Amino acid sequence: MVKAVAVLTISDTCFKDNSEDTSGPALAAFAKELFPKANLHKIIIPDEREIIEKELKYFCDEAHVNLVLTTGGTGFSSRDVTPEASKAVIHRDAPAITAAITQVSLEKTPMAMLSRAVAGIRDRTLIINFPGSKKAVTECFEVVKPVLSHALALINDELQEVRTIHDSMQFNSCSHGHKTSNVDLGKVAFRARESPFPMLEMKEAFQTVDNVMRGWVHVLEIVPIEKALGRVVAESLCTKEPMPPFPASVKDGYAVLSCDGAGVRTVRTALTAGEAPTAPLAPGQCARVNTGAALPAGADAVVQVEDTKLVSASEDGDTELEVEIMVAPPAGQDVRPIGFDIPMGAELVKKVSVLDAGHVGILAGAGHLNVTVKAHPKVALLSTGNELQEPSEAKLKPAHIRDSNRTMLRVLLREHGYDTIDCGIAKDEPAQLATALAGAMARANLVVCSGGVSMGERDLLKPVLLKDFGATLHFGRVRMKPGKPSTFATCHFNGRTKYIFALPGNPVSAYVCCLLFVIRALKVCSGRNPEWPRLRVRLSAAAKLDPRPEFARATLAYPDNDIPTATLLGSQCSSRLLSACGAGVLLQLPGASDAAAQLPAGTVVPALVIGRLDLP
Ligand code: AMP
Ligand code: MG
Repeated sequence: MVKAVAVLTISDTCFKDNSEDTSGPALAAFAKELFPKANLHKIIIPDEREIIEKELKYFCDEAHVNLVLTTGGTGFSSRDVTPEASKAVIHRDAPAITAAITQVSLEKTPMAMLSRAVAGIRDRTLIINFPGSKKAVTECFEVVKPVLSHALALINDELQEVRTIHDSMQFNSCSHGHKTSNVDLGKVAFRARESPFPMLEMKEAFQTVDNVMRGWVHVLEIVPIEKALGRVVAESLCTKEPMPPFPASVKDGYAVLSCDGAGVRTVRTALTAGEAPTAPLAPGQCARVNTGAALPAGADAVVQVEDTKLVSASEDGDTELEVEIMVAPPAGQDVRPIGFDIPMGAELVKKVSVLDAGHVGILAGAGHLNVTVKAHPKVALLSTGNELQEPSEAKLKPAHIRDSNRTMLRVLLREHGYDTIDCGIAKDEPAQLATALAGAMARANLVVCSGGVSMGERDLLKPVLLKDFGATLHFGRVRMKPGKPSTFATCHFNGRTKYIFALPGNPVSAYVCCLLFVIRALKVCSGRNPEWPRLRVRLSAAAKLDPRPEFARATLAYPDNDIPTATLLGSQCSSRLLSACGAGVLLQLPGASDAAAQLPAGTVVPALVIGRLDLP
């Protein structure tokens, strides 16, 4: 009996915008029609060979589907790698299936020559590639339809075995990456004892965040320049005036005609900064000027006061009458000509620059009071957990703790330039969680929740996202410490795509995963480079390695003749937020190997710069 079928749409375009996918739904409908009782999995993934292979393996080896139908990525373009990924996981080829498809297709169009689709068997699963268009999928499915049931029966007959309850639970609750689920929220005894979600490597998880968030549709907003610090400008801004707008003195001294050379000059006038010069200088005259003062017409050099001598003054000493220029000045000495700093019309701020204090100062100097920037997505924060109380409550109830994550995440995001909307605490009850999530999605584009994503029977975030919101889970487990159950999902809500980061509840996990996933996503939305700056640092003490790659919180010291030294902030237990207090960097410690269970003191490791690198 055919128990499950997976339909994989493999397309960068559809991955970015699920609504573009027409061949996947068509294929799913055909499969449903042919195998009405089968559990149908449907996912959309980009044209990335590693991801395709991983998903194929997942559906074959972990979800144990009988049939995997892929659509897309079979052509000749460099991104078309579905056949390569399929071949890599197939144990036994089924070339006659593709030959039959090709034969029929060629009768319809010579374009069929451009399909490189393959078919084959991995253990008990039949994998068939179809091209990417709805028309092609419809025609090709017609070709294989008559033999599919028989083919699958043959494959299954070879391996008749009784499934354990565990297997069937996994099987039923594996809702990875598809839009419907049979999650049974009630039966704790039958829950899967191992997470059914495939464990992504961190690199894959980051790539997934980047790919999905690139689908974010930019919105622009105009903000006053003082509020634009750290924002990404959406327009190139130029000067409307040259800077300086007049030839300005660089020194306190005397504006002169350089052709007069050295010798005695009549001091015709005195000009402080801000005073407009009157008549031009005549030969033999000079004007006393201050730094920043506008030079009178004709003057082409400034002689600093230190290079002059007083020759004569008024009796009261209030007026200099004559001075001697000791050294003949070259033309242009100590003068900033018009436009010296920034010429007229020059670009002050490039499109997509991230505004810093220098930019803001320059814009102010050029009279730009507002700037158009890329709007940030609205971010909602939601804590989940029956044990949580508001920090403001005076007395702790039995078995309760105060919610620290919401406040921590709010200020962490603010520190990095993002405002948030507070959506409170939701109880670990499916209905309450769904209501709270719906409330958060109504108010924001990106929802950051913490708690409820690990393996406890009250960890309901993933099932609720799948069941109540038809969410697509892009990942539900990542090989990292802290943050293994980190979850990233999207769903359609009120006609818009919503992005949900469900972070583990342990405060350090929430902290690290907010930095690594949420802030990354927000940076992608503004078109910024999502990576954290990296340093090489030397461990001040030996570091024990976890089997998973670890992001350890550390402070830095700066020895005179060496690279910075990193010291871990005490126990790295994921509940101990003290280990994040004062952290300037996250050390990237590798997973332990048979050869190395720890790194000795003095080892150089990479460190992500996530905070201020102040001296201790
Ligand atoms: P969970 O991810 O819900 O399984 O929670 C893991 C651990 O984090 C538990 O010890 C929770 O009590 C704790 N925790 C969950 N949410 C929060 C929060 N908002 N503030 C502080 N601790 C939390
Ligand atoms: Mg919880």
